[in-house]
Amino acid sequence: MIDMKSVSKWYGPVQVLTDCSVNISKGDVVVVCGPSGSGKSTLIKTVNALEPVQKGEIWVDGVAVHDPKTDLPKLRSRVGMVFQHFELFPHLSVTENLTIAQIKVLGRSADDAKARGLKMLDRVGLMAHKDKFPGQLSGGQQQRVAIARALSMDPIVMLFDEPTSALDPEMVGEVLDVMVTLAKEGMTMMVVTHEMGFARKVASRVIFIDVGGRILEDCSKDDFFGNPDARQPRTKDFLNKIL
Ligand code: ADP
Ligand code: MG
Repeated sequence: MIDMKSVSKWYGPVQVLTDCSVNISKGDVVVVCGPSGSGKSTLIKTVNALEPVQKGEIWVDGVAVHDPKTDLPKLRSRVGMVFQHFELFPHLSVTENLTIAQIKVLGRSADDAKARGLKMLDRVGLMAHKDKFPGQLSGGQQQRVAIARALSMDPIVMLFDEPTSALDPEMVGEVLDVMVTLAKEGMTMMVVTHEMGFARKVASRVIFIDVGGRILEDCSKDDFFGNPDARQPRTKDFLNKIL
């Protein structure tokens, strides 16, 4: 579903991704962790070309993301993305937030978009809030709306960039619960997070990326958590700090 081959990226003279290769199959849940500034956000953004790369290839469901001829709006419409900050439209109701891209990007009718959006809103347990505005919801609720909005587009893969790190601690669980359910239902997911409880529950693989955008580990969660002696010193060091 996602195939990154030897991807490198620089900001000016500074290399932020170094020869990154990642392969994600349908139904995989791949957790990406690593220290601040190591390139996690950059890596995940290259998947839907929100960040261009200078070297390497990125394929998503057979589409060459790195090819300048690729229809990026079409690609992005199929790749769901949830950021740290929920980025809902503050002046639109929850229902309007759920439907606008379906109508404008996918060309769905208002009725179809609403039906699909409300179905996804129900899935994240927020049907009662359909007529509210984002400012009337808690952070955790807003993030669940953001997930429902992404799901409304029928994505082939979902990308998450630290979806719980801006939330008050008591709201982290409700967002992770939605993500765990999605994972168990077979959604293909690439998730930047330091929530190792989530990784232990549903990750098929864990990737550890170090400063300079170097992938130091890419292994099953059982190897990642269960066999510390097989891990790189930098990974052990990082795990000791966050666990
Ligand atoms: P992470 O998400 O792991 O914290 P990022 O992907 O955000 O890391 O950043 C990786 C590196 O790239 C950092 O050193 C950061 O300062 C740098 N960086 C990120 N965005 C830009 C940008 N637009 N211009 C220049 N440098 C950037
Ligand atoms: Mg980041």
